[in-house]
Amino acid sequence: MTNPTSPSPILPGATIGFLGGGQLGRMTAFAARSMGYDIHVLDPEAACATRAVASRTITARFDDVKAAIDLASQCDVVTLEIEQIHPDVLDAVAARTQLRPGRAPVYIIQDRIRQKQWLKAQGFPLGPFVAAQQASDIADAVRAHGPCIAKSTHGGYDGRGQVRLSEPSQGVDAWTALGSRECLVEKKVSIHYELSVLVARTPSGKVAVYPPSRNHHTSGVLTWAVVPAVISDAMTQRAETLARDIAERIGIAGLLAVECFVTTDGELLVNELAPRPHNTYHHSERGLATSQFEQLVRAICDLPLGATDVFAPSAIANLLGDVWLQEQPPHTSHALDVPGTRLHLYGKAGARAGRKMGHLSAIGTDPQDALGKVLECYRRLSPGTVASFDVDEPVLSHITS
Ligand code: ATP
Ligand code: MG
Repeated sequence: MTNPTSPSPILPGATIGFLGGGQLGRMTAFAARSMGYDIHVLDPEAACATRAVASRTITARFDDVKAAIDLASQCDVVTLEIEQIHPDVLDAVAARTQLRPGRAPVYIIQDRIRQKQWLKAQGFPLGPFVAAQQASDIADAVRAHGPCIAKSTHGGYDGRGQVRLSEPSQGVDAWTALGSRECLVEKKVSIHYELSVLVARTPSGKVAVYPPSRNHHTSGVLTWAVVPAVISDAMTQRAETLARDIAERIGIAGLLAVECFVTTDGELLVNELAPRPHNTYHHSERGLATSQFEQLVRAICDLPLGATDVFAPSAIANLLGDVWLQEQPPHTSHALDVPGTRLHLYGKAGARAGRKMGHLSAIGTDPQDALGKVLECYRRLSPGTVASFDVDEPVLSHITS
């Protein structure tokens, strides 16, 4: 049945607005341009990564309602690449044009506590957590659950805004470090491996689910991701069903990434949700039938969704600012001599330690081959940062449980 708020698809020639002009906006904008859409973007940084692809850039904060109305007034549909958009801005945009993925899912997801409570109320599987209102709540959580991770409710990404604790006595310092305000405290679960599943859903309810990606983080930041995930069919099925159920229940109109932990006890738990393209699916641009960026454009424009088949095993490795802060500049030519690899840079001025500046991608004959190529490419590019990158660890054992 067609949704009454979406009478017809938004066709090429129309203008797509982006709240947020980082790399996710930029790569989606490239895909949208290829499909014949015009791009406008709003971002606090004048030199944002999406600027190069947009015909109009509005420099404003994500709580600037006037600027958001200005953006919405010239766009047929507005989407976002960051969830930290002020609710008044979401309302103002939704009152003037199509806001996709929709106000409700973004509102739930943008607050870590609200998100966890919503997932719990819906009966989705989660590790133990508490909403801490004071330092003693953090200490109590550690006493009850053992080692924990305290996370700020808003604005954390790439492991920022998080404090790891192993003793109750660390509660006060964690509370202070997170700004002495309400925060989420999660039990540190025993992770066997990490997965994500990306779901695309149109306003009229068409759904496409991507096969799970297997992901590796170092100090809370994604270092590599590979697809297929080399896991059992049963776990693939469970993870895909879980992600699809969440996307439908939350009513996403766009993309929803569901980050999961598989514990050493074989439990599948939701870590967190993202209502936008996701770093762990950058490999979809390589060996998959439809990249996540094109899929987002299709979803928000209510076009048919693209196929999600894996044609070639694909992997990515992130490039953080550290790569450009070494004595030696990156050895780009030597790195790209690894067959099957590609370099993706986001056009960000100013490399800072930990800042995502780009990624490497590779396709291979099997997932281990794709991962091996992308990691070899990384080693050649930046021998000086290999140790911190944790690149020597991965051997993709087939996980059968
Ligand atoms: P990103 O922006 O990369 O999604 P983030 O800042 O939102 O990261 P999380 O997804 O909460 O942070 O955590 C980043 C990583 O830290 C996880 O992928 C996982 O490796 C580890 N981590 C987070 N929470 C837990 C937990 N409760 N138990 C064990 N490990 C965890
Ligand atoms: Mg995460």
